[in-house]
Amino acid sequence: SAMRDERIKKTKTVCTYCGVGCSFDVWTKDRQILKVEPQAEAPANGISTCVKGKFGWDFVNSEERITKPLIRDGDSFREAEWEEALELITSKFTHAKKEYGPDSMAFISSSKCTNEESYVMQKLARGVIGTNNVDNCSRYCQTPATVGLFRTVGHGGDSGSITDIEQAELVLIVGSNTSESHPVLATRVKRAHKLNGQKLFVADLRKHEMADRADVFIRPKSGTDIVWLSAITKYIVDQGWADKSFLDNRVNGLEEYVASIQKYTMDYAAEVTGIEKSTLVHMAEQIAKVNTVSILWAMGVTQHLGGSDTSTAISNLLLITGNYGKPGAGSYPLRGHNNVQGASDFGSMPDRFPGYEKITDDAVRAKYEKKWGVTLPAEPGLNNHEMISAVHDGSLKMMYLKGEDMGMVDSNLNYVHEAFEKLEFFVVQDIFLSKTAEFADVVLPASPSFEKEGTFTNTERRVQRLYQVFNPLGDSKPDWEIIQEIANRLGGGWSFRHPSEIMAEAASLAPLYAGVTYERLEGYKSLQWPVAPDGTDSPLLFTEDFPFPDGKAKLFPVEWTKPLEFDEEYDIHVNNGRLLEHFHEGNLTYKSKGITSKTPKVFLEVSPELAKERGLEDGTLVRLTSPYGQVKVECLITDRVRGKEVYLPMNDSGEGAINYLTSSNADKDTDTPAYKEISAKLEVLRQK
Ligand code: SF4
Repeated sequence: SAMRDERIKKTKTVCTYCGVGCSFDVWTKDRQILKVEPQAEAPANGISTCVKGKFGWDFVNSEERITKPLIRDGDSFREAEWEEALELITSKFTHAKKEYGPDSMAFISSSKCTNEESYVMQKLARGVIGTNNVDNCSRYCQTPATVGLFRTVGHGGDSGSITDIEQAELVLIVGSNTSESHPVLATRVKRAHKLNGQKLFVADLRKHEMADRADVFIRPKSGTDIVWLSAITKYIVDQGWADKSFLDNRVNGLEEYVASIQKYTMDYAAEVTGIEKSTLVHMAEQIAKVNTVSILWAMGVTQHLGGSDTSTAISNLLLITGNYGKPGAGSYPLRGHNNVQGASDFGSMPDRFPGYEKITDDAVRAKYEKKWGVTLPAEPGLNNHEMISAVHDGSLKMMYLKGEDMGMVDSNLNYVHEAFEKLEFFVVQDIFLSKTAEFADVVLPASPSFEKEGTFTNTERRVQRLYQVFNPLGDSKPDWEIIQEIANRLGGGWSFRHPSEIMAEAASLAPLYAGVTYERLEGYKSLQWPVAPDGTDSPLLFTEDFPFPDGKAKLFPVEWTKPLEFDEEYDIHVNNGRLLEHFHEGNLTYKSKGITSKTPKVFLEVSPELAKERGLEDGTLVRLTSPYGQVKVECLITDRVRGKEVYLPMNDSGEGAINYLTSSNADKDTDTPAYKEISAKLEVLRQK
């Protein structure tokens, strides 16, 4: 039988398609993927997966994989050997460092890569080149949530586990299309809601599946979440429903905070957000009444001018109601990519070392200087948004970017592409020739998760191991190996033989992972940070204290930032997000036949009202034009959207790519692009 075939192999891996972090066995025969088999002991998902985890793996064997280094040759590339490509990179980097200084270079990590790869990327930037210009794509999605949590509770991650969300008496979802973006987690909420009487409140512009199921669904005007959140919080305080003993014992700054929310009355909130006052009062009553509230949020909150402040307001509401540090309660910013959490955790940020220790802290820097035997720069570096401006102003000359299609996923793409063209030298490391790679001088062939070992950290702060399913295809190599080769040619003197040794170094430096070892992560074992030196982990944070000097959390006053105005010319509000079947810009899933056959392309969701006004039907081809660029896409008429709000899934890398429309406007605290605040005009190009 098949079982006896010796070539059949079962390997445990972790899904790369979202932050839920499902793990499962992959059955393979040579390079053929036979099936994906979830296991009961998988900590995040048990025996569940979604369509992406189950069928989304053909891309690993795609003929479009890059299997040799590519060097620019006029308008195209020629294949080269590793030696030549690495020598070219070494000489260019050496030249830039000497001629223009270390800060003329910048490094971008990927939240699709492993924790160990994020670690070595920041070590290369800081320890070998001598710059803090290193960042990762969580800047495009979740950094505002991290900032909101740092301000209030001191750890930038989900405060509990998926099981806490399941146990909550009330779940509030804000700006998250959970059933399509985090399917397996959404299933848990659906089940708890249906079988255990869990209350479900949803706030979103778009009436998606979770909204359909909710007990209360509100559609606040775009960019006004902070107003209704603050009004609910104020109402709870005014009614005397705040958790007094929690606030007395565990929280600082109550008086100043309460003073700051005085203007957010229910009347004001109703006027600004367009939600009925009675609905907001009902929500406040319910939130105050139950014992446990978990709040889930995502890009609908963070990708706005006030993304960090709204995340802060969510955490303030949880503090006022005592919803931290007990099972079933807490804050859950749902991480998008598989390793959004880990890419930042492991130091690919311009101002933080691994474990979020500040690069401006002399004692922390001294610890790294001693371990690495170098002198480190003390000034924070550029984030990825600032990097693009720095290329335009001529101060940034070279970039090394891995696993990130910045030329597709950053906002205001035409501006980003001009920057790429201006770079003196650009190295892109990926598994496919991405849009970004088209601008590169050298493209290095990397290996996907199936072809390497390492760890990912899911949205629950859960560190999990992935094992190697296949050997690297062609001449491709795991990202960590490539980075180490470059580091060593530049005099790094590194000698990592396996990702476990990288993890050991990170654990020896960053207190957050002090007790993380590969032995403790064997098979389906996992650890949720912080992990004490003895290996004790922390599924639920803040049970005793908050990581501030006096152990208390902080209520942090924030102000509402008005969203961008729409004018008569650009009168359509273009909302955007995901489709269940595809992943981000689609660069992996479109290469998986099992998925493309189900959902071959994206479409623009248009409300029946707008369709009537403009004469649109299913299949009408339209052009959307913003002040920054344009897209062409076919329409789908649906009541999931209303009025002049349209919804363009972000999973297109061609003429329908959302970021040709987006601007360089960003969250003021983090520079996360305000992707959700786009206005455009709509023209009909062709009726079906
Ligand atoms: Fe993968 Fe997320 Fe689907 Fe789980 S829910 S299988 S992690 S895409």
